[in-house]
Amino acid sequence: MIVDGMLRTPAALRDAERWTAHNYHPLPVVISEAAGAWVTDVDGNRYLDCLAGYSALNFGHRHPKLIEAAHAQLDRLTLTSRAFVHDQFADFCRELAQLCGKDMVLPMNTGAEAVETAIKVARKWGYQVKGVPDGQATIVVADGNFHGRTTTIISFSTDQEARADFGPYTPGFTIVPYGDLAALADAIDETCVAVLLEPIQGEQGVVVPPAGYLTGVRDLCTRNDVLFLADEIQSGLGRTGATFACDHEDVVPDMYLLGKALGGGIVPVSAVVADRSVLGVLRPGEHGSTFGGNPLACAVATEVVRLLATGEYQRRSAQLGERLHAGLGALRDAGRLVAVRGHGLWAGLDLDPQRFTGRQACERLAERGVLAKDTHGSTIRLAPPLIVDESDVDFAIEQLSFVLH
Ligand code: PLP
Repeated sequence: MIVDGMLRTPAALRDAERWTAHNYHPLPVVISEAAGAWVTDVDGNRYLDCLAGYSALNFGHRHPKLIEAAHAQLDRLTLTSRAFVHDQFADFCRELAQLCGKDMVLPMNTGAEAVETAIKVARKWGYQVKGVPDGQATIVVADGNFHGRTTTIISFSTDQEARADFGPYTPGFTIVPYGDLAALADAIDETCVAVLLEPIQGEQGVVVPPAGYLTGVRDLCTRNDVLFLADEIQSGLGRTGATFACDHEDVVPDMYLLGKALGGGIVPVSAVVADRSVLGVLRPGEHGSTFGGNPLACAVATEVVRLLATGEYQRRSAQLGERLHAGLGALRDAGRLVAVRGHGLWAGLDLDPQRFTGRQACERLAERGVLAKDTHGSTIRLAPPLIVDESDVDFAIEQLSFVLH
């Protein structure tokens, strides 16, 4: 709630805090409506959404085509479970596989479930196809990673906040520095079944690896008969100005891990997409989910895939991303930012820690009508919906410039 230009904690937030576990520290804004790139709070204040649900809202709030698909499906069929086939399933799997240039799709719900699925498939592939001795499969991951919150996934996190007090941890993971090909080469041995990486590390602060890194990872994986699992849950589906962040180096991983925007900001939809030689190792009964691939999810996600197949959203992200990064670059050159990283409509901004925490800057931005999220001390992420226009981008830069002056 904004009173006299200052953020105040509204009653609805105090009430929410009374009745919920404190696993989040939200900004004191209570949102009640949204359309496109803008949200409105319970007092009628409007904010430009520069987080977009951590990229789950790449197509904006309530995109008309996605809402239409959801409404139509709600009126026909919502859930069958995978015990039966429904009429939305084949179209979704075929069109998503084609968008990825792969053979098969395994639908789940959340991003973490897609990651867990990829780990299981890679291990099984390792035992059955590569011939790794039973129980010895290893997967190489990068430090600074964020792949979700399950007990297995936090076992290979290097973020103590995400990990401490949640052990015992799942074995079978080797952590190497992100962006370091020599370290990766050293970590790959005959027990290694997969390398699991974010092509750009989102939660770490939109960290872009050195040029040639993804190509090098691809080469190492190919030469050592190791699967390259690209976690494109946050970086994929248009966010960086390409369908996948791997596209910027023309790299094709063995598995795409997708989520967030796949659900169109309406329902949780995730998926693992790979060729038959990899996903074909699974047999009935070995993996599944009650809600994965449900009719409502498939109807919305098929429409998401169709939006992406036009290329329009990737183009917008690339073009408006240039405007965003030009504006941020000017703020950096003027000494208001320490560093700026990113691709397309995705940016990580390092602030001067002597002057602001990321949280303080986000609170001041909210007072000026921009919602953004801090990460790790004095870093802010910007990830507006891909449907923003030039004036929205300019508005975000103007407010940042004011807050950081
Ligand atoms: N992988 C990446 C790269 C993510 O950014 C996230 C969420 O932020 C996840 C996985 C986990 O997704 P979810 O929160 O839907 O489980």
